[in-house]
Amino acid sequence: MKTDDVLTQMPHNPAHVVPGELQEIRPESPREHYLESILNGSGMIAIIALDTDFVVRYHNPSARKLLGYEASELDGRRLSQVSVLGLDDVERFGAMHQGLDSDGEYHYSLGYQLHGKNRQIECAISALYDHRQELHGFILNARDITRRAKQQERITRKAAEEQCLGVLLRLSLEDRDVESFLQQSLESLLQSIPWLNLLPKGAVFLGESHRQQKTLRLVASYHLTDAVTQTCERISFGWCICGRAAARKELLYIPDTDDARHDVRYPGMEPHGHYAVPILSNRDILGVLTLYLPPGHGEKEGDKTFLRRVADVLSMGISKRRAEQTLAFQAQFDDLTALPNRSQMICHIDQALVRSRRHGHVGAVLFIDLDHFKNINDSLGHTVGDEVLRQVSSRLTNTLRKEDMVARWGGDEFVVLLTESGRQPRDVARQAQLVAEKIRDALSIAFVVGGYPLNVSTSIGVALFPDNNETTTEILQQADTAMYRAKAEGRNCVRFFLPVMQMLANERLVVEQDLRWALAQGELQLHYQPQVDASGCLVGAEVLLRCPDRKGGFHRVDLCIDVAETTGLILPVGEWVFREACQKLKAWTDSGVAGGLRHLCINISPKQFLQRDFVSLIQRIIDEAEVAPGCLVLEITENILIDAKTDAVETMDALKGIGIRIAMDDFGTGYSSLAYLTRLPLDILKIDRSFVTGISLDERNAAVVEALMAMARQLRLQVIAEGVENDDDLGFLILKGCEYFQGFYFSPPRPTSEFNAYLEQRSL
Ligand code: C2E
Ligand code: MG
Ligand code: MG
Repeated sequence: MKTDDVLTQMPHNPAHVVPGELQEIRPESPREHYLESILNGSGMIAIIALDTDFVVRYHNPSARKLLGYEASELDGRRLSQVSVLGLDDVERFGAMHQGLDSDGEYHYSLGYQLHGKNRQIECAISALYDHRQELHGFILNARDITRRAKQQERITRKAAEEQCLGVLLRLSLEDRDVESFLQQSLESLLQSIPWLNLLPKGAVFLGESHRQQKTLRLVASYHLTDAVTQTCERISFGWCICGRAAARKELLYIPDTDDARHDVRYPGMEPHGHYAVPILSNRDILGVLTLYLPPGHGEKEGDKTFLRRVADVLSMGISKRRAEQTLAFQAQFDDLTALPNRSQMICHIDQALVRSRRHGHVGAVLFIDLDHFKNINDSLGHTVGDEVLRQVSSRLTNTLRKEDMVARWGGDEFVVLLTESGRQPRDVARQAQLVAEKIRDALSIAFVVGGYPLNVSTSIGVALFPDNNETTTEILQQADTAMYRAKAEGRNCVRFFLPVMQMLANERLVVEQDLRWALAQGELQLHYQPQVDASGCLVGAEVLLRCPDRKGGFHRVDLCIDVAETTGLILPVGEWVFREACQKLKAWTDSGVAGGLRHLCINISPKQFLQRDFVSLIQRIIDEAEVAPGCLVLEITENILIDAKTDAVETMDALKGIGIRIAMDDFGTGYSSLAYLTRLPLDILKIDRSFVTGISLDERNAAVVEALMAMARQLRLQVIAEGVENDDDLGFLILKGCEYFQGFYFSPPRPTSEFNAYLEQRSL
């Protein structure tokens, strides 16, 4: 039998079948009667008997009920016309023929709708042969398996759900940070839940508190456009769908038809609904999982139950990570103050020590102890004591720079680490002293606890490192020892471990105070050192600052300049020097004593030179003093070039534009490359006194100076030799072609009145 034959033989008009043959099988004998009642009474099984042309010859009541057909709709129809059986499908019909030909049987199942409900049936068609083994017809058995299929589907879905939750559970236990865990979980979820029929899009938010305001921060997203991730980066609780799910702590189903569903709008937004699932831990909101629904997606209890379980697994993963973070925090931070604890500080000092040794930096450790803190604890109780310690911590943190570190050492002790503060121990000692004083000031303001003011003073010990080969423990011991010295010397003070450090720090502190005082009181002074030509005639003078000390003398100028540089005082001090020198020059010129004084050389430090409005400041002072710019030489050092090469050249050009000349001071001591000389608009080279003093006896210095002279000649620069102390040196320098000189051999730097007299003498 061929499929094509059977299909073409099918009668299209049921009227073609002879009516007499359409009747149900008529019982002829009691046996047949008996058989008929079995067939008709077979409640579960639908039976349809067919002749050899697949024309329906019999159907039992179950068949009519199962297929939803009246008897008249079945009688005399060919099987392919009973469309509900699905055999009008050419392929299935063909398969049936093949099955019947080879096995005498064909089994299949199919689904259809009956009275608006989905049904699933299972069918078997078998060939019937008579006693002569001739084909007599076919019999079709069908039964309703809707309930079983549903049950099967439920079991399959349950298994898939469990498998999906299992994967999420595994991810939650893996060693990855919370954001990566949520991203992975979201991806895995959306790739493994086809039964939910969602859009393949979603996001996870984590709840955060910002200044009393609760927000959701987007931490994971799947297939969302940039427009969405940017718009939804942070959502307030109660705002939009996810914010509402968080505020209400309820799973929200929002269909696409709900027009008020989104508070947030973004470009390219298309119709969609949401399941927004709160991630809860004991009624605390940890975050929200949001999944996108296609238009028309209904609300299903089964989906919601599953998604709540997903949220539970996510909650577990987030909580696990938070717990781990807390443990890690406790291992490194102090519970009470949240400052780094002792072990973290030791690690940092270890590292700082290694870095300092490698890079030649100097650092400092400060050991801080609150004076008589025990009294507060004993008299006011530990709660008050704890609050004071918390306030001390926040004041310490606010007082220090970001790169410094403070730790609670234990009890009322704190340790501060100042790393890589400088290369010179004395600079670092000074800086550490300043920081320690700042800390003492900050902690000296009364602490208000429970409405009452409490005063606390502080003793601080300082140790610098690296000194020799000391270890972290030894450095801490040194700082501790210094702290005990501070306590022994009356508390409420700062002490250094090494007395020499103490001295240096004190000295710089005194210089700073005296500089401030002298500047404010007009007590700074200028000394002038003559510069002469080979015949000893005055050509100019260098202006040198002097700051009075408290014993009637002057502080060392290089120390004053250093302190002024580190404290920023150099700007007002430098301005004062320049103005004062200009005014004196004007006075000498006006009074006619200037005589051979063709110029004044004024030292300018890098900080001054590199300030933004330096040129206009110089111009203003020159204008005010009414001096000729051609009579002024600014002495700069090579450090300026190291600090800012390009800006420095621009400033030099601008100064030359005004008519001021520029001298390179202390030449030969700093920058190793001389190539820059050709690129700079210089007028004068001042050869440093370390080459000049004793030059007639030092061959190596002589060779250097000779080379410098030759180079200066090439570049048409004037040369002034500094530090000429004797006749031999002078003679040697003249021989090598040097034209101008400065040094004790001619004159030391002289106070203004003395220099005035010196000028007067020369102008006679
Ligand atoms: P400098 O600019 O090289 O000044 C020359 C220094 O050499 C002066 O030291 C001077 O007293 C000293 N000196 C002069 N002749 C001789 C000599 O024959 N033998 C020896 N051994 N030394 C001699 P002073 O006055 O102590 O100044 C030291 C440095 O302080 C100056 O070196 C300069 O760099 C800086 N300085 C002085 N005044 C100022 C100022 O107003 N501003 C700035 N930024 N720096 C200044
Ligand atoms: Mg100088
Ligand atoms: Mg010099």
